[in-house]
Amino acid sequence: MFKDRNPEVLVVGAGPVGMLAGLALNKRGAGVEIVDTGVWPCQHSYALALHAASLDLLEKYGLAPAVRAGAYAVKGLALCDKGGEKLAITVRDIMVTRQDALESLLEGALKSAGVSVHWRHEVFSLEPGETAVRATVNRLGKESRGYAVAHTEWVVEEQRKLEVPFVVGADGYNSQVRRTLGIKFPETAPADYYAVFEFETDANLQNSIRLVFGHDTTDVLWPLPGGSARWSFQLPGYADPQVEEMKKRLADAGLGYIPTERTKDRTEGSPGDLLPELDESHLAKLLDERAPWFAGKVGKVAWKTLVRFEKRQAESYGSGRMWLAGDAAHLAGPAAIQSMNLGLQEADDLAASLAAVLKEGASTAVLEEYNTRWTAKWKKLSQLKITPGAHAFVQRHAAQIAACLPA
Ligand SMILES: Cc1cc2nc3c(=O)[nH]c(=O)nc-3n(C[C@H](O)[C@H](O)[C@H](O)COP(=O)(O)OP(=O)(O)OC[C@H]3O[C@@H](n4cnc5c(N)ncnc54)[C@H](O)[C@@H]3O)c2cc1C
Repeated sequence: MFKDRNPEVLVVGAGPVGMLAGLALNKRGAGVEIVDTGVWPCQHSYALALHAASLDLLEKYGLAPAVRAGAYAVKGLALCDKGGEKLAITVRDIMVTRQDALESLLEGALKSAGVSVHWRHEVFSLEPGETAVRATVNRLGKESRGYAVAHTEWVVEEQRKLEVPFVVGADGYNSQVRRTLGIKFPETAPADYYAVFEFETDANLQNSIRLVFGHDTTDVLWPLPGGSARWSFQLPGYADPQVEEMKKRLADAGLGYIPTERTKDRTEGSPGDLLPELDESHLAKLLDERAPWFAGKVGKVAWKTLVRFEKRQAESYGSGRMWLAGDAAHLAGPAAIQSMNLGLQEADDLAASLAAVLKEGASTAVLEEYNTRWTAKWKKLSQLKITPGAHAFVQRHAAQIAACLPA
């Protein structure tokens, strides 16, 4: 099952953050295994931009040239409203690249380094102890079931017990590592719903990300590689009744700190297509109301989805032998892609701290310092203020703009 029968670090989750953590640990000589319940890397663009600091990080691992080759280079942010562009901000280096492309690249780099991602492997339980964590990992497989109507179900094909010195919880919003540690995950701001449309277009996107501010909306126009674009529209009046009901029940039970599942990915061909919010006539209406200046053609729609973004911050990044990175520790809004970008940096920092303990005999205090550093970083980000005396448009939309800036 595992190449390394007793890895020094078990990474739970093979999203971008877990895979980067695995790569960073491997490069520092630590024995690592990565497991993920998923069948393969993600299939959509999701968090689609890499900031300058993330690109610097990928440069360190020799991955930046490949990222740049397949990405759309952004030189600036255009701050807009319904009337058009109001202000342009130059940025050092942002590459728009699909999350699935980034994940494939990371998985390829891991493979070249001799580390395979164990897909269909679920961490079932974790028992942290003084010197090691006992982890039970299930390998999942599909089995035909049913007499009258045949169907397939996921079953446990094999169970494996491991004892590992450290666990990295890169297991996303509903992190089992975080839950095992009993770390609360309170909301820091109300959740927002977004309708996302990706389509081919002939629009001249001018190497800019357009942030479009309305009275209670922040919409984003992303240029995508290959002559496409993504519009993300905030839907302030929308609420998914099922999700909101679940959220209320959790709050009533005193469990408001548990994230509700993200609205299911409503992709092409799924029942979600029937949602009026994802109808192309709704896209036309949103463009007309919020960005009538968008002159590009709306060509073939390649992906559309309705997603609920919660904003949460874990009360701590971990303790003892289990530590968090990425969405397992924080959830942010979609406009600045902060959760993934900072998550990548956390992964590298955590890997360096773990390698210092494992390979150089450093004290575990370096892990406490990791916690302090990143807690402070997110606190600073949440308190970001626009300086008085800024452009009137910036002052008017100060809070919205602060949430859109690269981390
Ligand atoms: C539809 C959609 C649209 C999005 N759009 C945006 C956007 O516009 N902007 C933005 O900033 N972000 C967006 N995101 C969020 C973005 O994708 C995340 O911030 C990013 O994936 C975080 O990376 P991660 O590696 O921390 O976690 P994830 O990518 O969530 O990876 C966690 C992994 O852990 C695995 N896992 C969980 N539990 C276990 C377990 N017990 N055992 C083994 N494996 C486990 C999961 O299968 C998963 O693969 C979007 C997400 C979705 C779903």
